[in-house]
Amino acid sequence: MAEIQLRNLSKRWGSFVGVDNFDLTIADREFLVLLGPSGCGKTTTMRMIAGLEEVTEGEIWIGDRKVNDLEPKDRDVAMVFQSYGLYPNMNVYDNIRFPLKVRKVDKSEHDARVMKAAEMVELTDFLHRKPAALSGGQRQRVALARAIVREPNVFLMDEPLSNLDAKLRVSTRAQIKNLSHELQVTTVYVTHDQIEAMTLADRVVVMNAGVVQQVGSPTEIYDNPANTFVAGFIGSPAMNLIDGHLAGGRFTAQGTEVTGLKGPDGPVTLGFRAEDATVSNDTSGQITAPAYSMELLGDATMVTVRVDGQQVNVKASKEYRAEIGDTVSISVPPEICHLFDRQSGARIA
Ligand code: ATP
Repeated sequence: MAEIQLRNLSKRWGSFVGVDNFDLTIADREFLVLLGPSGCGKTTTMRMIAGLEEVTEGEIWIGDRKVNDLEPKDRDVAMVFQSYGLYPNMNVYDNIRFPLKVRKVDKSEHDARVMKAAEMVELTDFLHRKPAALSGGQRQRVALARAIVREPNVFLMDEPLSNLDAKLRVSTRAQIKNLSHELQVTTVYVTHDQIEAMTLADRVVVMNAGVVQQVGSPTEIYDNPANTFVAGFIGSPAMNLIDGHLAGGRFTAQGTEVTGLKGPDGPVTLGFRAEDATVSNDTSGQITAPAYSMELLGDATMVTVRVDGQQVNVKASKEYRAEIGDTVSISVPPEICHLFDRQSGARIA
């Protein structure tokens, strides 16, 4: 069992709060993704789990052991970093074997374990090459194999795909998903890429400025963002957010009027997703504005208008056409709308 418990975990440097009161149980075999913008505290959280960063307050449990005071090497976690951390003088085989040597695993086991790990990441044809003779993707796979070979209780991965080009990132992402399914090891994965988070995670933790904003399955976070930060971070494009006023269930903002909403009167932020709204070349919808840009995406057309200086995107069919500057109308039925408190950003409905 490698359940991980983070109990009211905080990290402070002087008065600066890097991670604030992080409290979560990560289930045995769960794939948990820490997601958030640069500087939000995700790497610090992971480094505390690994034992590379001292905890200011709170407890970390891995299985039935409190690990706060254990050295990194005694925590039975394997880390994979964005900088692969390979030994340049060793070939692939010896790089993968290295953790077994350090841990004084019986030599008779080495070959079978190295070969198994190499097979899992499809590196058996490269075992005699040095890292310098490998591509970025192949190097990252060596780093993965070196983590796998240890058969640890926990994998910690810190932006492992961020040095790869876009195409390789997609294929390596699929490989990590497949590996995690096969290995069934509790994994904590750090990224600032929301697509990576949504595709890999059982649960996502969205962080901002050291504070957990929401924990949930990718679907929960996508469909029911807890606040405007999460709504504006998740999705490609992110949720449209329009500041305005609600009175008697009627939302108004520049060029915008949506009726039939439920919420208290006052300043609110209206949210809806680009794919839930529709656009037409008349004035029948709830938002009327000149088309600001049109982007052909292959399978769809992204239409953008501006409301009060804010861009609002709508995904139309690939056949839809309008000229920039043409008046278009966006249909936003109340049932696709989310409402957030304008002051706190918290979800109202
Ligand atoms: P990135 O995606 O850029 O790696 P992150 O979310 O992983 O960002 P952290 O590396 O966890 O962010 O850093 C969280 C905050 O703590 C940042 O504001 C960072 O500047 C600060 N921080 C990190 N290490 C230290 C340190 N040793 N002393 C003081 N502040 C630090």
